[in-house]
Amino acid sequence: MSRKVLITGASRGIGREIAISFAKNKDNLVLCCKNNIEDLKALAVELTDTYGIMCKAVTCDVSDYDAVKELYNEAGDVDVIVNNAGVAHIGLLTDMDIEDWKKVTGTNLDSLFYTTKLFAPGMVRAGSGRIINISSVWGEAGASCEVAYSASKGGVNAFTKALAKELAPSGVSVNAVACGVIDTDMNRNHLTEEDLDALCEEIPEGRMGEAKEVAQLVLMVSQAPSYMTGQVITIDGGWL
Ligand code: NAP
Repeated sequence: MSRKVLITGASRGIGREIAISFAKNKDNLVLCCKNNIEDLKALAVELTDTYGIMCKAVTCDVSDYDAVKELYNEAGDVDVIVNNAGVAHIGLLTDMDIEDWKKVTGTNLDSLFYTTKLFAPGMVRAGSGRIINISSVWGEAGASCEVAYSASKGGVNAFTKALAKELAPSGVSVNAVACGVIDTDMNRNHLTEEDLDALCEEIPEGRMGEAKEVAQLVLMVSQAPSYMTGQVITIDGGWL
């Protein structure tokens, strides 16, 4: 039976590939992004036409609770949530503006509270559901010049483990997928070619991961038995 899946941050990068993977699986989709709504609408049309699914594209800033409430009012209950939307910020912590701190933690962590608060009660009523949070290896290891980002993803990991315990009795599983370096705008916009080459030399697989590879794993996690819950699953080419 086809499921209804919410994917945040689906206009580009990993979220876009996750949307394509779930569409191929014949799931119906609710996709959101903050800025690039025309790209997201074009993706929704393409997925609807190609796979014969229902696919909605909605503008929603996931760091804003009222906006997520509007998203819930438009989308209704879902079977799967993929909390993928995220932003990075590179620089010394002591140089970071308060607004940038709030943007990173609001987008990467507060958003998980907002989607869960609004969409999880429907899953609990149904006695089933899957929540998958996209995390980062920096959430465990910590990265210099990415303190806010690392803290937000460390928060995502702890959120995942704690929420999994809270929702397991209701048949809802909660897991995270922690990515290493994946070839998307997030890295291309922040790191130089030399930085990326140096990073790839440290990765046993010798390359960045592809968004498609993350998407394949996220789909698998969404299909895993509900007994697998509270896990942070790493995909990093053997890096950390
Ligand atoms: P990306 O290419 O920069 O795409 C980010 C996506 O998030 C876009 O769709 C963007 O929408 C959306 N977004 C950003 N802020 C938002 C907000 N406030 N509300 C709603 N949507 C918002 O990034 P990515 O590399 O695909 O990253 C996806 C996830 O993977 C993030 O959680 C990131 O932390 C995680 N991750 C990535 C890597 C990596 O190496 N790329 C590594 C570890 C973890 P717009 O297009 O509208 O701006």
